[in-house]
Amino acid sequence: MSKRASPSEKPALPRRLLIANRGEIALRVARTARRLGLEVLGIFSSADAGLPHLRLCHRALELPGDPKRVYLDMHAVIDAARKLGADAVHPGYGFLSENGGFAAAVEDAGMLFVGPAPEQSAALGDKLAGRKAAQKAGVPTVPGTLEPVADPKEAARIAKEIGFPVLIKASAGGGGRGMRVVENEGQLAESIARAQSEALAAFGDGRVFIEKYFSSVRHVEIQVLGDGKGHAVSLGERDCSVQRRHQKLIEESPTLGMPPEAAKKMGELAAKLAASVHYRGAGTLEFLVPSGKDAKPGEFYFIEVNARLQVEHPVTELRTGLDLVEEQLRIAGGLGYSFDPKKLEWRGHSIEARVIAEDPGADFRPSLGKLETVVLPSGPGVRVDAWAEAGLEVSPHYDSLLAKVLAWGQTRDEAIGRLAGALRETFIAPVTTTAAFIADVIESEPFKSGAYDTSILAARKKAHAPDKDRPLPVSAGVLAAADRLSRNGHAAVPALNYRGRGLSAWQAAERTEEGA
Ligand code: ADP
Repeated sequence: MSKRASPSEKPALPRRLLIANRGEIALRVARTARRLGLEVLGIFSSADAGLPHLRLCHRALELPGDPKRVYLDMHAVIDAARKLGADAVHPGYGFLSENGGFAAAVEDAGMLFVGPAPEQSAALGDKLAGRKAAQKAGVPTVPGTLEPVADPKEAARIAKEIGFPVLIKASAGGGGRGMRVVENEGQLAESIARAQSEALAAFGDGRVFIEKYFSSVRHVEIQVLGDGKGHAVSLGERDCSVQRRHQKLIEESPTLGMPPEAAKKMGELAAKLAASVHYRGAGTLEFLVPSGKDAKPGEFYFIEVNARLQVEHPVTELRTGLDLVEEQLRIAGGLGYSFDPKKLEWRGHSIEARVIAEDPGADFRPSLGKLETVVLPSGPGVRVDAWAEAGLEVSPHYDSLLAKVLAWGQTRDEAIGRLAGALRETFIAPVTTTAAFIADVIESEPFKSGAYDTSILAARKKAHAPDKDRPLPVSAGVLAAADRLSRNGHAAVPALNYRGRGLSAWQAAERTEEGA
């Protein structure tokens, strides 16, 4: 076995970086790696040979085997990294990014892991371990248990102490899986059993714990960077309260309605927690801010650490001007931050929309298939991180995030206006996406005024009614593209999703004629 790689031996940027991922994040990492002069190395499944990030790779290897599993096969990934001559591995997000075993195997193979040290993933990546570390660092956690709970009698005692409703959560959980709200004692035993088996099936780890359930809450998180030597810095907060199925759809910074002192305190505590474990690289500490009538001003509770770069990191990049992938690479190479934490400044307002291949009009059901038309927006203050291109397949095997569309503005209103416009220029067919739906959400009264919580989409769905008289919020280019598709035999393209209902290309074309 070669010597374990350690960043502090000889500080320098890596020279040959393997990106152990696909989709938009692979492209995102490749762009920065190219700018910094690194040799960019890629891997791809047999289903992914046409992905755009491979065009930015100097060399890439196909991982043989089942495309559903190859990105999770750590031995195959490390073997490819060795063959390609990598001296560092960037895991992106998802797949192996929070797997301490993978980080250790990368380092044991003599390469740098662009992420937290293996023991940090273990110490923080698991929700119970994260809660313990937070308590130790003096960071308030959601009232609940610090150990797994299995015995229904013991669970009932704890739940009564906390007060119903409670939430059963999988310690190894993610993606909203293994999470159950329990309203009363009668539901407790069954909910625990179900959460345990769901967690075991999804994560191979059936441990669950109990937490107080807040019926009205905002999700606010802190982006941190740690130098791995006991120092960490907060890069500010992001509000990610617009969610469907407990998963984020819109993220913004700063948080409307959160007093700046509370945001500052949250940042300081997050940095303290990261520093306490000598956190290395980019990470996010997630918090809940109760927002119901019983909420106390300035109150917030830590829920978990995401020990990796997150989907929504560009929201922070737009406000700070930093490139978080560059910071990750510098920290991995032992170079420290590119900036002076004391001089960090936040400008304006930024907001991100996740353009996902899902149908908001059908309870966010996945919308799969081959992409035929992809029109992505641009313009002042607009940033697009996307892998979607005509000819590529949206497959059930992988994450269905097609693009992240972001806008920056001097004010929140300007950022919202720019993003809504950009989303209405976005046209991806023949799959249905969340683009136009999000445009409607961010222009809605509750979102604009900030009078909402994580249930905003559930409430919106009920209020949705087709409005025939409102003009179509789509541009002529989009209509022309829809028209082309309909002429090519796509009689009903559920792509222009207006107010949550599918609008076929045929209908869209008809409206153009009406309006002409
Ligand atoms: P996962 O890791 O599965 O995504 P999280 O713990 O990050 O789970 O929680 C995801 C979302 O679930 C949060 O953003 C929030 O909307 C909701 N949630 C989590 N814990 C609670 C809680 N105790 N009370 C109310 N909502 C919660």
